[in-house]
Amino acid sequence: MDKRWLIAVILVGTLAGVGFYIYGMMKPTFGRSARVVDWIKDPAAHPDWAVRAGTRCLAEAPFVLPTDGLIGYLWNDSFQAGKRHQGLDIFGGTDVGKTPVLAAYPGYLTRLPTWKSAVIVRLPDDPLQSGRQIWLYYTHMADPNGNSFISSAFPPDTSEKYIDAGTLLGYQGNYTGDPANPSGVHLHFSIVLSDADGHFLNELDIRNTLDPSPYLSLPLNAATSDGEVVVCPGKGN
Ligand SMILES: [Zn+2]
Repeated sequence: MDKRWLIAVILVGTLAGVGFYIYGMMKPTFGRSARVVDWIKDPAAHPDWAVRAGTRCLAEAPFVLPTDGLIGYLWNDSFQAGKRHQGLDIFGGTDVGKTPVLAAYPGYLTRLPTWKSAVIVRLPDDPLQSGRQIWLYYTHMADPNGNSFISSAFPPDTSEKYIDAGTLLGYQGNYTGDPANPSGVHLHFSIVLSDADGHFLNELDIRNTLDPSPYLSLPLNAATSDGEVVVCPGKGN
């Protein structure tokens, strides 16, 4: 065979292999996307898909669920090759500004001066690893134009305000920073690590976040998910 043909065949084979590999990695996420679309279209048709704000799935779970709705995307889901989802996306199935967002755990709340849709809460002592400081990040609490749904108790520039678990933080929204491309109405919730100086690390990189599964006593890691809807076991919800 002509050498150039051989190289072409190897190249095509390699590309096909890479393509199948990426497809295989992202396939579970595609399945969850279809479910999110079904849910948003008609939440009333799937009452058994929803989790409830303030619920502790098992007695030993340190965190309560921060909002109502379908846990549409998991930690470690893949929306594009090479990028992994750093938190949970919980879709309320309502319009913007309607579904409450509650604190999952007590801590010290900060809202930077420029934050329209997000707050971050410092936990000085990780309930699952004593001595480690972590942060809980709650975002998408604004409309497409950046009109905030964060509670008036936490205006921009709030710093280190103590809150209890269950405190109302705001309401789900669909803010993305691009008014022409809002997301579905949801809460993005993630657990963020501290740097050596005690500041929160960049939340956009999954390596700076923790798998929320043990904190909520739910199977929330996309890498080990069975693809089923994630709801509290035995709660009849
Ligand atoms: Zn998200």
